[in-house]
Amino acid sequence: MTKEITIDDLKMYRALVETGSVLGKNTVLNIISHAGEAAETILRKQNAIDTLDRIITQQCQAALDATGLHHLIDEDGDGDWSAVWEGLQELADQKRHAERNADTYQKLYEQRAESLEQAERERDEWRGKYDESETARIFGEAQQERVRALHSPEPARYYGTDLNPNRQHDCAGCGEGWAWPCGTIRALDGDPNAAV
Ligand SMILES: [Zn+2]
Repeated sequence: MTKEITIDDLKMYRALVETGSVLGKNTVLNIISHAGEAAETILRKQNAIDTLDRIITQQCQAALDATGLHHLIDEDGDGDWSAVWEGLQELADQKRHAERNADTYQKLYEQRAESLEQAERERDEWRGKYDESETARIFGEAQQERVRALHSPEPARYYGTDLNPNRQHDCAGCGEGWAWPCGTIRALDGDPNAAV
């Protein structure tokens, strides 16, 4: 039973059966057929085992590479594998932590971005208001300049005579007898008593 059956053995048995020397031809052919099937099954299982072995080896190597715990395992693959798997579990925990942190940071970032946007909106609003008052100021200055341009000093008539002993200049805009600076100019210069 322990001896392997070779192709030559089978050929010999087949020859014996065909000559009717041993068991019935069909019985032996049946046995041979079953033996072939069994051999195929064994081969398939061997292939599956090889594949699994390759996968397990790869996974073990991946676990070692991921954890960096190479020093716990020797060249033959023997060593403290339970420590390696624990290390892998720790890595998974760290990854989950990191993912939660990333979520938190993402939320914070979004909140910051939102308040930044709000600040920018407020700034633009204020800028609009500032521009408005600035425009009004510039416009007011131009108006004042135009009013101011209508008034200018000119030498007063009869200055130094009894008719006009003191008034050196009149306002050309306001007319003769209106001392320079006239009320308009003094009002523009901020004199509160200009109209008096
Ligand atoms: Zn005047």
